[in-house]
Amino acid sequence: MYYLKCGYCAEHSALKSEYITFCDHCGKKFPFNYADWKVQHPNSTFAAYELEMGVPEARYEAIMKKRRRQGFDLRKKTALITSIVVLIACSTLGAYYGPTLVKMFQEPAVPVTMLNTDNWRTFRGNMLQLQTPLSLSPVPVKDQPNMRLKAFKGGSNGEGLVIRMDEVVYLADNYIGLELASKEAANQLSREEGVSQFTYTEKAVIILGQQAMLQHGSYIYKQSSPIEFSSLVAVRGGTRVQLLVTHRGNDETGRKIAEKVMGSARLN
Ligand SMILES: [Zn+2]
Repeated sequence: MYYLKCGYCAEHSALKSEYITFCDHCGKKFPFNYADWKVQHPNSTFAAYELEMGVPEARYEAIMKKRRRQGFDLRKKTALITSIVVLIACSTLGAYYGPTLVKMFQEPAVPVTMLNTDNWRTFRGNMLQLQTPLSLSPVPVKDQPNMRLKAFKGGSNGEGLVIRMDEVVYLADNYIGLELASKEAANQLSREEGVSQFTYTEKAVIILGQQAMLQHGSYIYKQSSPIEFSSLVAVRGGTRVQLLVTHRGNDETGRKIAEKVMGSARLN
């Protein structure tokens, strides 16, 4: 078999018969197809045409083989370069962000030194005050329909301990029941981003003669980090306040701190 090399796309088409006129690859007309050639060589044969214009099978195979090898080499080179780049990127990222990434994906334990209450301070909210090892500062929260929200937070998931106080003023109600309020507070937490497998139990407690609801529970954060929480909910008129402490699951120090913070809560 002979092949015709296309002058446009440089691909080869098999000379299967005398009637091959167009390139198999780009569809352009061969300038010297057999019919055209025959006009200039009226006494010649197709075999002579093949010999003069065609590329013999052996050469065609050699060209294809070379091409395949080059393609393979190129792919191998590309793959190698890609792996090197990925490796460098990973190790660079790892060196810079590794510790942060680990912190993000695995909540660290609370350092035992935090249990020393000498370093704790008082935080006073509108309704509730407490003792805390972390300083709480206001966090921006968006008001919801008929609700005015205020929040304060100390610590972060990266530090293994978060203490948070949320005040909600129900603008349309001048009275809200404790049970409903505590259920709503738990619902709100369960709906936060990244929270799954949320469970909790609650019991009524008395703080200096006033009723409140104490909740303990757990959830999985971002499908990977088990978190425990303690939450104290109290109401006054149409205002609800929630004190929330979260820490890593099974962290004894975190639990002790949560207990101490909850125990220090006083209603103003
Ligand atoms: Zn072509």
